[in-house]
Amino acid sequence: MCKAYIPCLLIYLLVYVVTKCVSLSNRKMKYFILFNVVAVLTIMGVFITYHVVLGALLPFLYAMLYSSKRVMRYVYGLTVASTFIIVYGGYYYGLCDANMTLLTTNTLYSYLSNGTFTLTEINGNPAITLLLYFVIPRCLIYVAFVAVCSSIYKIVSGSLEKLKLTAELEKAKDEAERANRAKSQFLAKMSHEIRTPINSVIGMNEMILRESAEEETKKYARDVKDSSMMLLNIVNDILDSSKIESGMMELVPVNYEMGGLLNDIYTMISLKARERGLGLEFDIDPMIPCEYIGDDKRIRQILLNLLTNAVKYTERGTVTLRMSCTTSGEEGVLQCMVQDTGIGIKPEDIKEIQQMYRRVDTERNRMVEGTGLGINIVQQFLALMGSELHIQSEYGKGSTFSFELRQQVVNTEPLGNFRERIQKHEEVYRSSYIAPEAKVLVVDDYKMNLKVFRGLLKQTKIQVSEAGSGEECLSLLEKNSYHLIFLDHMMPGMDGIETLHVMRERKLCGDTPVIMLTANSLKGDEEKYIREGFDDFLSKPIMPEKLDEMILKHLPPELVLMSEETAQSVQKVQEESRENPESEALHDGSLSFLREHLPEIDFDSGMVYCSGDEAFYLELIHDFTMLPMKEKLSHCLKTGDYQNYCIYVHGFKNNAYSIGAKNIGDLAYELEKLTRDCIPAELAEKQRELFELYETICREYVKATADKSENN
Ligand code: ADP
Repeated sequence: MCKAYIPCLLIYLLVYVVTKCVSLSNRKMKYFILFNVVAVLTIMGVFITYHVVLGALLPFLYAMLYSSKRVMRYVYGLTVASTFIIVYGGYYYGLCDANMTLLTTNTLYSYLSNGTFTLTEINGNPAITLLLYFVIPRCLIYVAFVAVCSSIYKIVSGSLEKLKLTAELEKAKDEAERANRAKSQFLAKMSHEIRTPINSVIGMNEMILRESAEEETKKYARDVKDSSMMLLNIVNDILDSSKIESGMMELVPVNYEMGGLLNDIYTMISLKARERGLGLEFDIDPMIPCEYIGDDKRIRQILLNLLTNAVKYTERGTVTLRMSCTTSGEEGVLQCMVQDTGIGIKPEDIKEIQQMYRRVDTERNRMVEGTGLGINIVQQFLALMGSELHIQSEYGKGSTFSFELRQQVVNTEPLGNFRERIQKHEEVYRSSYIAPEAKVLVVDDYKMNLKVFRGLLKQTKIQVSEAGSGEECLSLLEKNSYHLIFLDHMMPGMDGIETLHVMRERKLCGDTPVIMLTANSLKGDEEKYIREGFDDFLSKPIMPEKLDEMILKHLPPELVLMSEETAQSVQKVQEESRENPESEALHDGSLSFLREHLPEIDFDSGMVYCSGDEAFYLELIHDFTMLPMKEKLSHCLKTGDYQNYCIYVHGFKNNAYSIGAKNIGDLAYELEKLTRDCIPAELAEKQRELFELYETICREYVKATADKSENN
């Protein structure tokens, strides 16, 4: 008996080892094993105990060859049945013993030839005994064997056919992939080409918005702007996804500050959330490191896509961004999560939305604009960064999109309380009154200063008139009357003091209060201005709250509206001005982008002078880089006109301070003092320094804006 088991165990072991070594997913190999094992089984069946082989090996084969279960079940059934009949039936009746062999005629031959085959002992009819216990079982075995062989034939020939088919399919797949890549490359190129004319449309339209005086035209221009921005976003999405598909998208790791990144995102999303009446929470762990190396542009895009979706698909409640970080050494793993209390996604749709161009629940979302590209782009970007997007959602209750990002930490200093930073940011001064009937005249030789003044009073609805010089001021006063006049001190031609004297002499201003706008904060100046006949003075750069104080102090009280209703209306005007498409710059993160690229400018103090109006501030920075300061100062220095030199450099200083360019302001101030004290010797050197610094800022600005529009 033992002898019979050993080869059987050996076969068992052999099959086990072979199947362990060869991947069963390889179909060809599987059929090869099947063929060999059956062959071995058949041959071994001649020598070893048949029932042991079948008992041990066939179930094993059966399990292993799951792909041809039907055939094996059939073979197995037949062989087990025949084994049972031969072995146990034969043994019981002494016909044959347990070692009776298969496929050999030895036993039959010996039974038949030497007469030991005593069939009569069992059954009176030896033919029936032979038939029952020998012929039928063997026939069954042969049938099984033939079945196995034919199955093998079918499997092998089928698999050859399949192999041929697979090769053809693979070829077709390669071709399709090549075609798809070509399509993606074409799309990427086209999108790039399309962006150029769209950018021109946006640029030209911007000119109309700035220069047109007609409200109707401006309204159309705003619509054009809305539509072209939307078009640009779609084209950008297509460009991104086709770049990813064609393998042209690469990560660009740079140093970035998490505070700036979150700030940008907050600015862009808070407006959208407010528009939809949703709460927005940034739950950022204060201990997360503040600086990293990574592709901040893509991270920004990922978070913006998810947050924009969260806002789009939420009708009421709150959208939350959570962020934490686990650091070990130089590496940090950022855990990011965007949660909403929105419409949610059905479980069966979660897979669907991960596909390109797929939108779900379209009946419910028919009013929500979208292309179905956002989530796919997020996934692709995350894959590029070695991460993946997890989506959890409860239909009707809300969704959570989360992912982890491995980033190199450059500065482990904790980010600090982000919520406080936002609050501080939002706590910029806002006017709390309106005076739509009030007429105010402001006189300044620098257009930029006039713009700042007008911008600061925008929310109060005061009617502001502008004059660029003392002479212009006088001619305006001859035709109009004002409730309040703000007069700049240093101007070419007639300065503020002279202008005031003429005004008073010619009785052009009656008892209208005249306020001196001055950047001279020297002690004793205040009394001097009052002595000269000014009613008050306001120092430049103008602080919004000081300007309001001044206006409230000198405007006739009946013109000022300050009721609860007014406060609400002011808030509305403020919100409108923030939502105004003209302040689009606010939405596209330009300020933070510039903040990173213009280190010479103190953006925080610049923002204070602009009442926190980012779009307005961006305009001022742009205007500042366009000032004809170099030509004017060089001309004055060449002609020795120090008086006008002093006036120009003084005005330039104010402009610099009002955008937060403190270094330039200080240099200009030194130049102003030098000319005032008549020390022209040092002028040229200091002026060179000033020009250099100014040029650096202009260059950086031009480069940053070009980069920004390229990035967009
Ligand atoms: P789009 O928003 O442009 O249609 P996306 O790829 O960003 O494309 O999203 C695909 C779909 O996934 C959306 O159309 C929407 O049905 C669903 N979806 C995405 N984000 C959310 C969310 N926060 N809540 C509910 N549904 C969402």
